[in-house]
Amino acid sequence: MPDQPGPPATSGEEPTATAGLPVATVVLKPKRARPFFGRHPWVLDSAVLRVDGTPADGDVVDLATHDGTFVARGLWNSASRLRVRLYAFDAATRLDDQLWKARIAAAVGLRRTLGLDDRGGAARLVNSEGDDLSGLIVDRYGDWLSVQVTALAMARRLDAICDALEPLVAPRGILLRGADRGLAKLEGLHLPDRLVRGVAPSGPIFVTEHGLKFGVDLAEGQKTGFYLDQRDNRQAASRFARGRRVLDMFCYSGGFAVACASGGARSVLACDSSAKATALAKANADLNGAANVAVETADAFEKLAALGSAGEHFGMVILDPPKFARSRASLDDAMRAYHRANRLAVDLLEPGGILVTNSCSGAVSREDFLVMLAGVAQRSGRTIQLLECRGAAPDHPVSAGCLEGEYLKCVIARVM
Ligand code: SAH
Repeated sequence: MPDQPGPPATSGEEPTATAGLPVATVVLKPKRARPFFGRHPWVLDSAVLRVDGTPADGDVVDLATHDGTFVARGLWNSASRLRVRLYAFDAATRLDDQLWKARIAAAVGLRRTLGLDDRGGAARLVNSEGDDLSGLIVDRYGDWLSVQVTALAMARRLDAICDALEPLVAPRGILLRGADRGLAKLEGLHLPDRLVRGVAPSGPIFVTEHGLKFGVDLAEGQKTGFYLDQRDNRQAASRFARGRRVLDMFCYSGGFAVACASGGARSVLACDSSAKATALAKANADLNGAANVAVETADAFEKLAALGSAGEHFGMVILDPPKFARSRASLDDAMRAYHRANRLAVDLLEPGGILVTNSCSGAVSREDFLVMLAGVAQRSGRTIQLLECRGAAPDHPVSAGCLEGEYLKCVIARVM
């Protein structure tokens, strides 16, 4: 990450200057308009009948039914299967810098309402569709902002986005995290990580979460550096930890492990297959004076099986694996992997033990996940009592019109 702002981040030409008004109309196939009247923001290429006009990528377009009725207004990207992202559902709204500014202000205002504006903490300030800003994610870590754009149209508007964020948040620096490789390919977006405003942090940033301290490495960390979506789930899990021997599987930087240690766990074993992650977990345990947290770099499935073979038992097991299902197509394989991990975890739990099991695969529904747990109960012959069915922290709002945003499932259960 360079320590000086680089050249403008645009991956091509600026959008045609139309002051946010449409330059073309995208006409839908017959019977394909319903989701958009329901405010769903993604128009796939397969729904498009024709385009009246010749929009450049990133331009404002109107969406209309085949018989010419206005449906919504959005931004065009010919390189993406997601041809148009919608940002307004009335013909009066201009998709101009004023709109982005107002949406960003509303998003930042929500975090203030949630009490997540403490400068020493971290919060997601903008959550894409959940804040009516499809393709834009902004996380604040202390005095720094990490911006992730997953849509070409947002990348083209990066300057306006930073101009809106700066007066609202007064960050010391704004860092751009390039979209992950798969997404970049889907959107025709090629953005390297770089500093876009201010100065870069000289090392890890230390943030407080529910009274605990965590180091976040913005340049090197996974995702945008820290799994903010799990903030309240870590605290919820910690309420069950007192006196228990805890296993935190897929621990990354040790969020659950440190929370459980501070919640009075007898001991905690934190495992991750990444040596970088376990080093971060160890550092975070030390930072909080949690001397009873041990870390181990190991594959989760192998480690769970090995602990079982060795006759080990735990009073609490946390499973927080990466996305097993990338798409609906890989759902069967993913469900088998969830079943296997959860079965191994249940087998390690003493009677009355607590299972904290998570899935961040959007393709896996809440119901799929609970049915998987029912299967584990059946196969293991154990009663599984669901205590809390949780989701992401409220700084990750989900639009009622785009339930794809509801990806995180966190179930806390007692296993008899
Ligand atoms: N619980 C963490 C987030 C976990 S993210 C927190 O609260 O911050 C998922 C983690 O799973 C990543 O750190 C990744 O390195 C790890 N991982 C992926 N595949 C794995 C495997 N087969 N075995 C163990 N860990 C794995």
